[in-house]
Amino acid sequence: MTQPETINAIILAAVSAKDQAEDDKFSLDAQINDSRAVAEKNGWNVVDVIRIEGHSRNYRTLAQLAAAARENNEPGFDRLIAHFEKQDFDILICRDANRFARKPSLLYEIVDTILEDCGARIYSLSDGMVDANNADMWLMVKGYEIRKQMQWLKTEMQRGRYKLVELGLPMGNEHVWSHMRVRDDKFKTVDFIPDPDKQSVIYEAAQLVVNRVSWRQIEKDLFEMGFAQKNGKPYLTHHFYHVFYNPWFWGDAVRNHTYRQNQSGRSVELWMVDPSVPIPDGVVMYRDKIEPAIKGDLAIKLRAELIRRITSRPRQHRNTHHFSGLLVCGRCGFTMAYHDTGKNIYYECGSKYVASERARCTRKWLIRESEVKAWMNEALRLMIESNHPYLLADPNNEALGETRLQSYYKDLEQIETQIRRIIEKQAHAPESVSSLYDDQIEAFATQREKLLATIQTTEQKQQLVNQGDINLAYRELTTYETLEHFWQDDPGVINQLLHRLMGKRRLAIRDRKVVGTVEYRRRSHR
Ligand SMILES: [Zn+2]
Repeated sequence: MTQPETINAIILAAVSAKDQAEDDKFSLDAQINDSRAVAEKNGWNVVDVIRIEGHSRNYRTLAQLAAAARENNEPGFDRLIAHFEKQDFDILICRDANRFARKPSLLYEIVDTILEDCGARIYSLSDGMVDANNADMWLMVKGYEIRKQMQWLKTEMQRGRYKLVELGLPMGNEHVWSHMRVRDDKFKTVDFIPDPDKQSVIYEAAQLVVNRVSWRQIEKDLFEMGFAQKNGKPYLTHHFYHVFYNPWFWGDAVRNHTYRQNQSGRSVELWMVDPSVPIPDGVVMYRDKIEPAIKGDLAIKLRAELIRRITSRPRQHRNTHHFSGLLVCGRCGFTMAYHDTGKNIYYECGSKYVASERARCTRKWLIRESEVKAWMNEALRLMIESNHPYLLADPNNEALGETRLQSYYKDLEQIETQIRRIIEKQAHAPESVSSLYDDQIEAFATQREKLLATIQTTEQKQQLVNQGDINLAYRELTTYETLEHFWQDDPGVINQLLHRLMGKRRLAIRDRKVVGTVEYRRRSHR
């Protein structure tokens, strides 16, 4: 019981680590000293001094706060709540309302508890005595201030975090599993690098992906190979799926991408691994900002396989066949599916069953596998003979044979030869006619400039194709003794290599024939 002549006060000093760093004058000691001075001046008996350090006050209700305080072992809030329950104080001294609440609803609840349940008062160092007479007004003002402060804090924090991404540092507590923070002696993150302890398991997991092991199986296989989490348990299923499809894994710093979902509800999209695909609106990405978790040939193969797995997502447990995902109906753009009747093997346009009426083919269009194989065999033969790895992947290559780019280069060579010849003639011509050559040279020079510009844009378009991987795939193709040997390999291996050689192109099928290559675009059939 409180003695009538004694006024018992408790001092609440709270600070979050962030506040303290920002401003010293609100630091704990200063708060406590100022509060003690007030108590002394008024002759109040200080029964408890509660210091709350670096604890979030961002809770909505006292119950939430109490639960969190207990869980986090924050004795300060526990003690404050004990005082509320025992109602053993007359005045609570604090620096300001934001010392114990960062949400207006929590502030209201605490003030109500103190004033009504405990019959006590609040002394705010910045506003003076708060009691039943002015509590409503004070709450209104402080509630508004708190809201504003929170908004400001949020904006500032966000701004700071965005800056981190621009520097190639992770935002928030979560970051891609493959990397680790490097901190300075003040515990500040100064670098974000591939975690050396994870290199070997990443290497093995990448090998499994490249070898066509399913996402569901990879972590199990790794466990068999002796790779486990720190706690000895296997990595969670799909762990590496999420790691490999994270742009940070590949060295690209990115924000606003995790909660994005595309129409099909998938959180993984092609742009995350394929640099030639445009980044969706709202996502901010800084390419090649940090060291990637994987490099070299395996990185190129892994990326290609990740792209393949998205662009030709197999339905259910379908086996991979030679041309799975490579044939597109020339009428409706639908990917053609494999069928084996026992007698015939063919691919057919299935849009009849799936697509909306407007987009679908009204009849089933087919092509025999043998027909595709003959076409492809001829294409590969040409590819090897002319030593032209981009034969199938080149977006400028509407028909097989000489590419547009190659013909541009021939034109360029001719023009330059012409110019050289004229200049040579001009040098030996009498001075009186020398100026006549100038016009000719200038005309050719203009033509040359134009051609160079065309070549540049054409090349830029071509760079969209992942040339690194196409070269690598081509090298693999040439390791087969003959094309015969190639066709005898496992259908899955053949399919993967063809996918890589074709890049973003697919074979267009019309009237049971291959009519050329087209750029592949994912379509929705709804
Ligand atoms: Zn069709």
